[in-house]
Amino acid sequence: TTAELRAADREVLWHPFTQQQGWQAEDAPIIERGEGCTLYDTDGNAYLDGVSSLWCTVHGHRHPAIDAAVRAQLDRVAHTTMLGLSHPPAIELARRLLAVAPRGDRELTRVFYSDNGSTANEIALKMAFQWHKLRGDEARTRFVYLDMSYHGDTVGSVSVGGIDLFHTLFRPLLFDGLRAAAGDAADLERILRAHGDEVAAVIVEPLVQGAAGILLQPEGYLRAVRELCDRFGVLMIVDEVATGFGRTGTMFACEHEGVVPDLMSVAKGLTGGYLPLAATLATERVYEGFLGEFHEFRTFFHGHTYTGNPLACAAAIASLDVFEDEGTLAALAPKIDLLAELLAEHVAPLASVAAIRRLGFMAGIELTEFALQDRMGHRVTLAARRRGAIVRPLGDVVVLMPPLSMSPRELTRLVTITAAAIAEATGVPAAPAGDRIGTGA
Ligand code: PLP
Repeated sequence: TTAELRAADREVLWHPFTQQQGWQAEDAPIIERGEGCTLYDTDGNAYLDGVSSLWCTVHGHRHPAIDAAVRAQLDRVAHTTMLGLSHPPAIELARRLLAVAPRGDRELTRVFYSDNGSTANEIALKMAFQWHKLRGDEARTRFVYLDMSYHGDTVGSVSVGGIDLFHTLFRPLLFDGLRAAAGDAADLERILRAHGDEVAAVIVEPLVQGAAGILLQPEGYLRAVRELCDRFGVLMIVDEVATGFGRTGTMFACEHEGVVPDLMSVAKGLTGGYLPLAATLATERVYEGFLGEFHEFRTFFHGHTYTGNPLACAAAIASLDVFEDEGTLAALAPKIDLLAELLAEHVAPLASVAAIRRLGFMAGIELTEFALQDRMGHRVTLAARRRGAIVRPLGDVVVLMPPLSMSPRELTRLVTITAAAIAEATGVPAAPAGDRIGTGA
C-alpha cells in the first residue's frame, strides 16, 4: 500500500537536496507510472508533469519509439565498456550528436561520454586544464564562472558554482575560481584583463541560468563571452545540460547567438530523460592537444564504468529520431507563443507574482517577497500538486519546464493550475488590470 511504501521510504531513503526532517509529513506522491505528459501515483492520482521529470523527459514519458529502442538494445547487450572496446550505439550517437551540434566559426568534432551533467562539466574543466598544460602553458589553472551559476554537485562542478546556498559550505574543498557578475560582459573583461594569463576556461550556462531561477542574460552576452575568450586565449565551456535538446526553441541555446564553444556539455534531455547519459563535445583543436605517442602521456585520464552505456546510447539515438520524425522543434514554436500568452493571461495579473522570466519552454515565476520560513515556492508546489500538476520551486521562483511534447490543452491546464495554486498558497488575489508585469523573452 502507499502507506507502507511511505513508511519504508522514511526508514531507508535519503533524498537529494532535501531537508530530511519534516518533508515526509507532506505525503509526497509515490510515482508508479507515466504516460505522455502525465504521471500516476500508487493511489491512482494523475499529475500533469510540468517539469519534464527533472527537466529531462523532453518527449514525455513512455514514448513508444524510445521504449522500443531500449528494448531492442536489451536483446543485444546492456553493458560494455568504452575502455579498449566500442559499440555501435556509442558510435552512431556520437555522429548524430555532432551532426546536430551548433556550427559556425568552429566545429565540435569529438564526443566524450559520461553519465550526468555534473560530470560532463567536470570533464570539460579537466580537459581545458590539461589542454593548456600540454601546450606548455602551466599558468592557466583557474576557471571563471558566473555569479548564481549552477553546473552540478561533484566537487569540480561545485568549484564553479555561484549559488552560495548550495556551494559555500563546501568552499574549503574546492579549487580556486574567479566569479564574474552574471550576464555582464564588462565584468568578465575586467577579470580577464587582470587574470587572463591564469585562466584555463570560462564556463557559462548559455542565455539562461536555470537553477538560479531562470535568470536571463542580455542579448549578445554569449557572443561577447566567445569574443573575450578568443581575445584572452581562454577556452569557452558552454553548459547545455538544462538548455540542450530543444528547451529554448532551438536544439541548443548557443544557436540563438551563433556561438560555438570549444567544449560543450550535454546531459538531461540527451536520452529523452530515459537513462543516465551525458557527453562533453570538443572541437578538433582541443582534441588534437591530446594527441601524442604512448610515452608522452597525453592521455585524458578520466572514465567511468557506465561511460557511454549502450542502453542509454540507444535511448538517445531514438530521442534524436523522434526530434526528426515528429518535427519536435517546428511543432514547439507555436506552443512557446502559447505559453507566453497563457502566462500573461493567468499568472502575470496575480498580485503575488513579481516577475515572469521565460525563454522558449522554460519559465520562472518569481513571487513577491515572502519570509524564508513561509517556504512560499514550496507551498505553491504543494497546492499545484493537489490540483493535479507537478511544478518545481527554486526558492520563491516557481519553475515550469514542460515536456516539448505537451499539447496546447495540457499546457493551458498546467498554467491555469499554476495560477490557481499561486493564488491559493499566497492568499493574494489578482492585481488590477493596469498593473500587470511583463512575461519575459
Ligand atoms: N548544469 C546545469 C545547467 C544544470 O541545470 C544541471 C542540473 O540541473 C547540471 C549541470 C547538473 O546535471 P546533473 O544533475 O545531471 O549532474
